[in-house]
Amino acid sequence: MRSCQRLKKPSAAAPPRVHSEMEMAKMPTPRFSFTNRFSASNKVPRQINRNLIFNQIRIKQPISRADLARASGLQRSTVSLIVEELIAERWIVEGSLGRLPRGRRPTFLNLNGQRGVLALDIHPSQTTLAVTDLGGRIVAQNIIELPANPQKVLSAIVNAIRKMIVANSDRSFEGIGISLPGRFDPHLERFVFAPNVTWPIQRIKSRVELATGLPVVVDNVANACALSEVWFGESDGMHDLVVVNVSEGIGAGIFANGRIIRGEAGSAGEFGHVQVDPNGLPCGCGSRGCWETVASNRAGMRYYTEIANRPLASFDALLELVEAGDAAARAAIEKMCAALGRGMHMIASSLAPSEIVVVGDITPLWHLAGPLVEAEMRRNPLVRVPRLRAAHEGKRARLRSAVALVMHENPL
Ligand SMILES: [Zn+2]
Repeated sequence: MRSCQRLKKPSAAAPPRVHSEMEMAKMPTPRFSFTNRFSASNKVPRQINRNLIFNQIRIKQPISRADLARASGLQRSTVSLIVEELIAERWIVEGSLGRLPRGRRPTFLNLNGQRGVLALDIHPSQTTLAVTDLGGRIVAQNIIELPANPQKVLSAIVNAIRKMIVANSDRSFEGIGISLPGRFDPHLERFVFAPNVTWPIQRIKSRVELATGLPVVVDNVANACALSEVWFGESDGMHDLVVVNVSEGIGAGIFANGRIIRGEAGSAGEFGHVQVDPNGLPCGCGSRGCWETVASNRAGMRYYTEIANRPLASFDALLELVEAGDAAARAAIEKMCAALGRGMHMIASSLAPSEIVVVGDITPLWHLAGPLVEAEMRRNPLVRVPRLRAAHEGKRARLRSAVALVMHENPL
């Protein structure tokens, strides 16, 4: 199952583009100081170049060595060396022969399809489990309805994972990534905050590791999505970004200065529990009037019930009503988006990221919600106005974030 080549330290930063020392010496003026830029990470240029090559193969596979050199900007000898290493370590494989008008036919490179990752996206009442390849492409997916009895939830999750592993026994797994609604201290390996979860989530890592024998990487969903934006998304790892996860609650993941900002005990990013109304509704954290009580999915559903005097089955049902032109649903979403926008102003003012990326069930409606949120964010002055957008993978973003957790921990 698990590769025995996992010898190097886990990587600590995103995979930005870095050249070899020889190539750097030839450059007229560096765009940034390598030492200053990455002093917070353990990465050396060789590791960064390996990440760069791996990601170019992931994005452009099948790809020849020559095209890889062009795409990465690295010298062909550097590319060949890294490619041979990645083949020897089974991260990539040589595939079919390409065609050229003349000369030797190139061999195309692909990610090793026999290796994969198990990804879990945990919500308080439901979990999605998926098998993906090393590039985060989903090859199998299951929804696990969590039992009402809190004591049976972990068994249900573990059983579903076991079944998934058996059903995909032709694949070896690098590990299991778990994105969840809570703050997990990676140093102490314990939860510090999970107000919306009523079952014993604090035991999930040890239970899954014991049941599968695989390494398990756990992180807050917003942190994981921030990592995923850098690992799989458009972000180059050079710019600061904040991911805001809008679901049952609201949490933020902060990527700044080339790394996730975790704060003391891994508890940074809880903007959802900043009080915005001292006389507001009680919140799961014990306070009242927190941002998430007025801007989360639950707030949107509550607004609809207040306006239409009818309950809703789910947040998706609210989105469907909006798309169908329902006036009450539209008013409820406008109220939720205004509250979201005021919180985005708080985040933009305090952290000044290049961009704020929204993850969650509202993203399929972003063509309508996005401009409403942005207008509210810009209503009051900002020193710097960040780009505001929805995550590219929409509803799959949370699942892919769990893959990013494992790939980030696995040294290439
Ligand atoms: Zn709260």
